[in-house]
Amino acid sequence: MIGTRNTFIISWVLLTIIHDAMQTPLKPLQSLVDGQDDDEDGSLSSEDFKNGLSENLDQDKPEIDEDGDADLFEGDIEGEKAELRMLAENREVVGHAGKKWPKVNGVVTVPYTIPSSISKQSKSELAKVITEYETKTCIRLVPRSKEKNYVHIDSTPSGHRCSSPLGMSGGKQTIKFGEACTWGNLAHEFMHSLGFFHEHTRSDRDKYMTVNWDNIKKYEKETGRTWKHNFLKCTDRGCNDLNVGYDYESIMHYGQNMGRYPVLIPKSSGVYIGQRNHLSDKDILGLNEHYCSGPDAEKCSDTRNTGDCGNFLHVCKKAEYAWFAAECEKSCGICKA
Ligand SMILES: [Zn+2]
Repeated sequence: MIGTRNTFIISWVLLTIIHDAMQTPLKPLQSLVDGQDDDEDGSLSSEDFKNGLSENLDQDKPEIDEDGDADLFEGDIEGEKAELRMLAENREVVGHAGKKWPKVNGVVTVPYTIPSSISKQSKSELAKVITEYETKTCIRLVPRSKEKNYVHIDSTPSGHRCSSPLGMSGGKQTIKFGEACTWGNLAHEFMHSLGFFHEHTRSDRDKYMTVNWDNIKKYEKETGRTWKHNFLKCTDRGCNDLNVGYDYESIMHYGQNMGRYPVLIPKSSGVYIGQRNHLSDKDILGLNEHYCSGPDAEKCSDTRNTGDCGNFLHVCKKAEYAWFAAECEKSCGICKA
């Protein structure tokens, strides 16, 4: 039996814990997994870049969409479904400033890591992606040194799938780059990591495409899975469609079929959808519009992705919350000149 005195002590301890929890910020889940990392020691050589430019790169791989995982948002976007649904209200790019990689001196740097076990083929494919972005946009994919926010390329996911989170997540974020994925699929996943949704979910989609919902139903029946959520367009008034306009040729457009059923039919004749061979002219204009043409990011800003810097200013100077101060530099007033 618990005596009155013991009940009092237990209540006091519980109240203290609850009180402390309310007064101090919690690290986002992603930060907790940083540091327990798998092997991230891979690097690319000049030979990988040479191989990446070979005309034969990926010639033995069939062209695939990234739409094959019924459990992921739109087939290949990782993340918490409720948050993604909220973000999807302003596609085609994520409007949330905290999801955008910062631009400094006209260049947007996205640090990456790769495992040392990555195959030579995957290295060549990554080299090709790096070159494609570097020669056509202001985006630079560079090996990570100490940057807090970075993309880890997992070249050995189960199921050979390709997938990515949406926009800059904060801390380490992982692109899954399975063996079946081509360099074009990887370029597509990097656009998700840069904050881009799929082209066919733009709010003006129905002017350009017919969605065959009956065929989607047939495919759902055949596979026993739900797929229609892959084809919902942005219906919110604040849709963040880029000015560049609808693009059949986008590397972010899905192809025509799901299984043997045509589900996305272009309204213009003679156009091909679902190419994964290059960033299209409009992809490049879109990246330019979203990232390259605007002003540089502020030199000092809050990068904490939970948006609660202002709620815990009293911990800015506490040594055990140095990580909080680092994520809330501007709010804590510790910007370096
Ligand atoms: Zn995708």
